[in-house]
Amino acid sequence: MPEFDYDLITIGAGSGGVRASRMAARTGARVAVVEESRVGGTCVMRGCVPKKLLVYGSHFGHDFADARGFGWKVSEPTFDWGELIANKNAELNRLEGIYHRILRENKVDLLDGRGVVTGPNSVEVNGKTYTTKRILIATGSWPHLPDVPGIELAISSNEALDLDEFPKRIVIVGGGYIAVEFAGLFNAMGADVTIIIRAGNILRGFDDDIRNTLAQEMEKSGVTIHRECVVRSIEKLGEKEGEGFSVRLHGSETIGCDQVFYATGRTPNTKGIGLEDAGVKLSDRGAVVVDEYFQTATPSIFALGDVISRIELTPVAINEGMAFVATQFENTPTPMDYDNIPAAVFSQPPVGTVGLMEAQARERGEVDIYMSRFRPMKHTLSGRDVHAMMKLIVDRESQRVVGLHMVGDDAPEIVQGFAVALKCGATKAQFDATVGIHPTAAEEFVTMRDKVPDNDDDG
Ligand code: NDP
Repeated sequence: MPEFDYDLITIGAGSGGVRASRMAARTGARVAVVEESRVGGTCVMRGCVPKKLLVYGSHFGHDFADARGFGWKVSEPTFDWGELIANKNAELNRLEGIYHRILRENKVDLLDGRGVVTGPNSVEVNGKTYTTKRILIATGSWPHLPDVPGIELAISSNEALDLDEFPKRIVIVGGGYIAVEFAGLFNAMGADVTIIIRAGNILRGFDDDIRNTLAQEMEKSGVTIHRECVVRSIEKLGEKEGEGFSVRLHGSETIGCDQVFYATGRTPNTKGIGLEDAGVKLSDRGAVVVDEYFQTATPSIFALGDVISRIELTPVAINEGMAFVATQFENTPTPMDYDNIPAAVFSQPPVGTVGLMEAQARERGEVDIYMSRFRPMKHTLSGRDVHAMMKLIVDRESQRVVGLHMVGDDAPEIVQGFAVALKCGATKAQFDATVGIHPTAAEEFVTMRDKVPDNDDDG
């Protein structure tokens, strides 16, 4: 008779939790995963996947217009938001079915309900207690909306993906990944989009040339960005005032709109699941504190993914899950390698990035910067005023490429490949020795020869 009901109970069936559970089960461990909502978690149900489907949908807005420059005669297209949402939901149902099948085929039990840790080796689900050798907290994160009068009138990304009606005028508060992605897709679908940011620019944490280029491109495409601006209150308007909402800014300006959308970061889901009572330490932000092997202050309890607030990206959670399984179930202690993690923002145009920003690289030593700005070939005929920017940051002493950044069509697809080169420690000479593929935008990364003049050199 085993000492525990399970070898592992995972709380949260999102990307990290499902990957860790099924990989652990493959080693022969007896595993259950607890989920109170839909299997698949934020990425599949409320994030990356539905967002990307809407981004694809929005691109047609530009494509119909661009086609005219290539000789296509297109009558005025119409767009049915309801149909896109219904098709997107059907796809999510299909994916959820696949996730259920993956769990079943790997013999992972799915416990339907809210999981609460009741001790170092026990989890309660719907009033029933299960014992387990290890507990994995993979409960993810939830949108954080600041305390502003009228905030209950605002939506988050959860609701934005499922609106009954297409918002013709939308105000988006925040300038991070979610804000710029949704600004791009609503704008391309024909909405009047205003972004409100408290800082001087969008996308804090990205290279300044990425931030400036993307902001310029978004503004050219019709998105309004209010910088250094704070929302004072949100009010609902009555029939007489034209309905919708009024967003009051500091100063006396107000903006009327059909939806107010807050994309102001996410909070780890750590409340009300018994963590502190079980001895698990939380950070000031409420994230689970773990060591390099994802172990919490309570040795039998582990955590990974958004709930530990290191890098809130699905592939990071998945890789953390694999490192956890290797360490705990395959006798191979494996810390997660957080260096050179590529990332993309599915803005319009999109961003792809890997490695250091210029400012970070300069803090570490002298650098050579290579940069290219150009009008992509497609837009010479489409006539659309779109520009791309590509940038390489090279450590001067070692000549290793330590940062690679792009704003422009296909940037996420292009940067994924170059991320391998950075991971391998490629030098600028090796980039130069690589033959380009012509005509592409990607070839710019292997044909840049002229350094951006360095002010320090001039002096
Ligand atoms: P981010 O942390 O990326 O951005 C939050 C934004 O909200 C920042 O612009 C921040 O401003 C602003 N903000 C925070 N608090 C306030 C406030 N009280 N009032 C006004 N503005 C505020 O969060 P997101 O919500 O956009 O996304 C959450 C995470 O999800 C991302 O960090 C990313 O890790 C992940 N994600 C990844 C995607 C991808 O891989 N493509 C897509 C979507 C999300 P400031 O800069 O001044 O701090």
